Amino acid sequence: MARKTNIKRMLTDIENEAKFTASYTGRERFSERVMQAMGDVVREKFVGDIEEDFAYDNGPLPIGYGQTISQPYIVALMTDLLDLTPESTVLEIGTGSGYQAAILSRLAKKVYSIERIPELCESAKARLQALGYNNVETMCANGYYGWEDKAPFDAITVTAAAAHIPQALVSQLKPGGRMVVPVGLPYMHQELMLVTKDQQGHRSTDSILGVAFVPLVTEDK
Ligand code: SAH
Repeated sequence: MARKTNIKRMLTDIENEAKFTASYTGRERFSERVMQAMGDVVREKFVGDIEEDFAYDNGPLPIGYGQTISQPYIVALMTDLLDLTPESTVLEIGTGSGYQAAILSRLAKKVYSIERIPELCESAKARLQALGYNNVETMCANGYYGWEDKAPFDAITVTAAAAHIPQALVSQLKPGGRMVVPVGLPYMHQELMLVTKDQQGHRSTDSILGVAFVPLVTEDK
């Protein structure tokens, strides 16, 4: 019962923040499908030993190795901006706990997700499998260069902040595709950017709102 109440509270928090930020995001509310997925995926299963009630607070949570899972509102916003359909193929950079991958898996046909920290990658993979998110494929690697073998994608989400929009990711986006990526310097001002590619392959970029993400690592030694 407590879980039901907590999830309801989380969805209300997301709705309120969506209204509050509508003038920046252009979205007064998120789609039914996105809100349904947010309500269905059990967040506490992705955050380890955190008190159950905290798991549903509208804030970021630590997932180990200095990394965090984004606040539910940001996960919902980033997912909503991708305009996924049940036929979409999505790429996520930064699997982390696997939480956002689980949300995406409810909304798309296939989710590919890359994580560079081996321990997080392995545990997210095992968790997603155990919870039955069977349309998610993970890879333990540096995602800065995308996943060439599986490209092109209808949508790409980057869940760590890049200093610039990674060109390799733009080139792996289908015509008509959409990408969300936080851009900015580590622990400085960052903007969530929406990159769209038109049918002719021309890219355009919109700034959505200010955010705070852990850094996207560009080079692995
Ligand atoms: N989406 C995650 C949260 C991710 S936090 C979730 O729902 O839990 C950001 C993650 O991006 C971290 O796990 C970090 O290790 C990873 N990351 C940072 N740079 C990366 C890169 N170049 N390639 C792949 N993963 C990266």
